[in-house]
Amino acid sequence: MRMSEFREYLVSAADAIGIRLRPDEVDLFCTYKELLIERNKLMNLTSIKDDLEIAIKHFTDSLTCLLVAERAEFDSVIDIGTGAGFPGLVLKIMAPSSSAVLVDSVGKKVNFVRDTASALGLDGVAAIHGRAEELGRNAEYRGQFALAVSRGVASLPALCEYCLPFVRKGGIFIAMKGPKAAEEIDAGARAAAILGGGRPEITRLTLPYGAGERMLVVITKEQATPNGYPRKTGAPEKQPLGLRVQRPEKSPSSSPSNRPLG
Ligand code: SAH
Repeated sequence: MRMSEFREYLVSAADAIGIRLRPDEVDLFCTYKELLIERNKLMNLTSIKDDLEIAIKHFTDSLTCLLVAERAEFDSVIDIGTGAGFPGLVLKIMAPSSSAVLVDSVGKKVNFVRDTASALGLDGVAAIHGRAEELGRNAEYRGQFALAVSRGVASLPALCEYCLPFVRKGGIFIAMKGPKAAEEIDAGARAAAILGGGRPEITRLTLPYGAGERMLVVITKEQATPNGYPRKTGAPEKQPLGLRVQRPEKSPSSSPSNRPLG
């Protein structure tokens, strides 16, 4: 596929979701896409290799965040589990005066994001190799961001514990989800309440070119996250907040886990 076709797909797909891209923004996305394809030959950054799919499922999907967060409203953004920079680096390109912190627990992905930001001439991008659970306890990052975002990282309750600690009061967390996340909302709402978040607000949308349904779950930070959250590495996923505990109806000895096998 010619470069210009990627450009045309991206521009028309962004247009279809109501976002008009400027030519200088499109130039940056084209270079980003080229760097992604090059580095993806050396390491596994994305399983999506087709230009049209990259235009829609990575770039346009990332842009959907701007439907719920106006560019002018965020001066700072943190992306947890950014991978190859989606959605965080895309948002930074669209809001160049914001400061962006892009976090991943895999060092080589972080290196790609850092190299790409510098190749694109973007200032104010910190690509950080680390885990949300540790960074969220660090005063340099905790409670500092107008916007936290995450895509493809964890279930909503775990994601709330990863992301909400970073958001300052009045800021928002956007969880980028597919339609199946409807079943995570109740537990996510209870987790959010524990972590200082308000009620989740849901925006549903359809990506163009048949790329499917999406759900943006937006949670406003209402109170500071209590000390003790995020819990230690692994706990948010292994013991997610907000699940309803099933109390055994009979005595504990008759619960399935205590029953002898065979
Ligand atoms: N957001 C990107 C990548 C999704 S893959 C995209 O949508 O394309 C999930 C990424 O989250 C992986 O790169 C993984 O290394 C990272 N990750 C998972 N748990 C994490 C944690 N607790 N802290 C930081 N990064 C994490």
